[in-house]
Amino acid sequence: MSLSPARLDRFARHIVLPEIGGAGQVALASKHVAVIGLGGIGSPALQYLAASGIGRFTLVDDDVVEGSNLQRQTIFTNRDVGHGKATSARRWLANFDDALDASISDSRISSENAGELIAGADLVLDGTDNFATRLAVSDACVAERTPLLSAAVGRFQGQVGAFAGHLADEPCYRCFVGDAFDAEDCDTCAEDGMLGAMAGWAGSFAALQAVRALLNGVSALGDPQYGKLHILDGLKPGLRTLNLSKDPACKGCG
Ligand SMILES: [Zn+2]
Repeated sequence: MSLSPARLDRFARHIVLPEIGGAGQVALASKHVAVIGLGGIGSPALQYLAASGIGRFTLVDDDVVEGSNLQRQTIFTNRDVGHGKATSARRWLANFDDALDASISDSRISSENAGELIAGADLVLDGTDNFATRLAVSDACVAERTPLLSAAVGRFQGQVGAFAGHLADEPCYRCFVGDAFDAEDCDTCAEDGMLGAMAGWAGSFAALQAVRALLNGVSALGDPQYGKLHILDGLKPGLRTLNLSKDPACKGCG
């Protein structure tokens, strides 16, 4: 596979980086990322993943755009209010770069359909806002042997972690949070609030970590950082990193 002159020009600032190079850019064009949740995290993440030339997307969200989303969900505009997020996201993607391929689902993701929705993806980026969904996505990633970037944000804090529970020594998201939230919807965004730019930071940082994981074994930037959880503090501001370990008793990956 090679890149056309127009694509070489579009991605020139990537290709000139020794950490990515032509080989890295060609690899990104061949990758398929499933973005689960197209809200505060998924919107900026999709913008930077699409801008980085990843060739194929699966976009999953069962929600409808509301006026109060526009404070942080940057791919949507006034005309999208009342329309499905997945459909609106595909429209954004087609306007941005029609060389990229997208399939969409407006089903609510659950343990029943998660495996089917992420099938074939090289990486899953989960920006959904409740533990039950996040655990269902994590379990499906372990079963499908797909790396997972999980990102969350609230108020002035964000978390971005990379998981590969299908590997013998790497934790899954369930190793990190446990089983306690399986049946519970812990969405507190509506009550607690969130600085819009915090979602942008967490989402774009998740996109950076996704690119790093996708280039594993391809170019010098490749380093999936599995088992590392980055905590983003927008008030201080600062970033700290925790190392997570695999739970041998985990019911997702143990
Ligand atoms: Zn686990």
